[in-house]
Amino acid sequence: MTTKILAIVGSDRSGSTVLDNILGGIPGAFSGGEIRYLWERGIVERRLCGCGEPVAACPVWSRVLSSVPEPSRDAVTVLADLEYLRTRHAFSDTVPVFGSRYRAKVGEIAAKIAPVYHALAAETGAEVIVDSSKRPTWARLLSAMPDVDVSVVHLIRDPRAVSHSRKRFKRQLDSSDEISMRQHPPVVSATFWTVWNLAANRLAGDGYLRVRYEDLMADPVGSVDRIRALAGLDQPHPTLTSTSVELQPSHTVSGNPARFSTGEVALRSDDAWRRDQNGGDRLITDLLTLPLARSYGYGELRQSRNLVGATGPVEQEIE
Ligand SMILES: [Zn+2]
Repeated sequence: MTTKILAIVGSDRSGSTVLDNILGGIPGAFSGGEIRYLWERGIVERRLCGCGEPVAACPVWSRVLSSVPEPSRDAVTVLADLEYLRTRHAFSDTVPVFGSRYRAKVGEIAAKIAPVYHALAAETGAEVIVDSSKRPTWARLLSAMPDVDVSVVHLIRDPRAVSHSRKRFKRQLDSSDEISMRQHPPVVSATFWTVWNLAANRLAGDGYLRVRYEDLMADPVGSVDRIRALAGLDQPHPTLTSTSVELQPSHTVSGNPARFSTGEVALRSDDAWRRDQNGGDRLITDLLTLPLARSYGYGELRQSRNLVGATGPVEQEIE
């Protein structure tokens, strides 16, 4: 039987956890968070599932892990496999002679992790498994798995907002250790924003949808309806409105600390960068992300920024 997966791809700090939280509330969908971290953070580091239990003790993930074949839950070998993918993919993609060996290895790894997704679907009864792992290479790995149907939401956020967010301190809530999300200078954030989004652009085709974070926040219902159509989820979100969503506890295996949010959550664009980002950081980000940012429509937002406060609709667009 085919397992349907909805992969959220894009750069870090693009709002994927918020989107994942929302999508997990649609009837027929199960949100697994950043499933690529299941082995490292969930199994080895024993970090918390979105439900508050360590992943190995979570009622969903413990049953999934006990039902899959041993190689699928063997963190040591799976992590070695993922390290191979991380270090080889760029080289192998560009040097054809190494491509066939690389593709064979990808197929082998994909077959090893596929039972996790099939078990998630069987265990939860979900029609669609949402995976917000974000990396385009992970979406390619998912597509190489046997008996899956993968659709891709490419989530994009203004690069200046991303570089500002990645510079800020943010404490992780899923570990007893004092772990924070990694902080990066704008030159690094902007470079990776470009690399990951260019790679995500290459996934375009059937089963691919591009969504901007700013549009998602301005019109959550309309944006989620487009994603539901992509994933084949017929029923609307029961608690999503134009300004808020009511969240239930999730079983997300990793992600931004916002994955622990429950109850009514206001949906509002985080625009702190407009107020707090210094001119140097903004210039570096602009230089390293144009013209790709402009191709996503952020050039237009730059112009409309001058109109903030002047008219409602324009301000609405950039919030
Ligand atoms: Zn859980």
